[in-house]
Amino acid sequence: MDEDALYETRERVAAEINEILLHRLRNNIRFCERCGRSLPLHHRGRLCDDCYRRMRRRREGTH
Ligand SMILES: [Zn+2]
Repeated sequence: MDEDALYETRERVAAEINEILLHRLRNNIRFCERCGRSLPLHHRGRLCDDCYRRMRRRREGTH
């Protein structure tokens, strides 16, 4: 067992995870509740535009 190599790998992986988490936090990424697509920054609501429009159209067409 090469312990030095293990420590090196662990540190590199930890740094990558930190990078990803920081990136997500910084961009405040959220995802559409229906299709799971990432929503644009400052997007209002829980659905992406496509799902929102589709839902509205369906609702309006029922009468
Ligand atoms: Zn969607």
